[in-house]
Amino acid sequence: MQTNLSPEFKGTADGQAAEAILRKCVHCGFCTATCPTYQLLGDELDGPRGRIYRMKQVL
Ligand code: SF4
Repeated sequence: MQTNLSPEFKGTADGQAAEAILRKCVHCGFCTATCPTYQLLGDELDGPRGRIYRMKQVL
């Protein structure tokens, strides 16, 4: 998934920190099996990988 931060956010310290954190996820899915909210709700978007996808969409 390609992510481009919005111009007003990209040059800021918060934007750089967010970009570094979000790019550490390689979307392997190993976290899903042990995620309590995913096990409870059964929705990919309620697991770590899904949350990271959502954060990327916001950014
Ligand atoms: S957050 Fe989940 S999908 Fe992303 S790298 Fe870690 S284990 Fe893999």
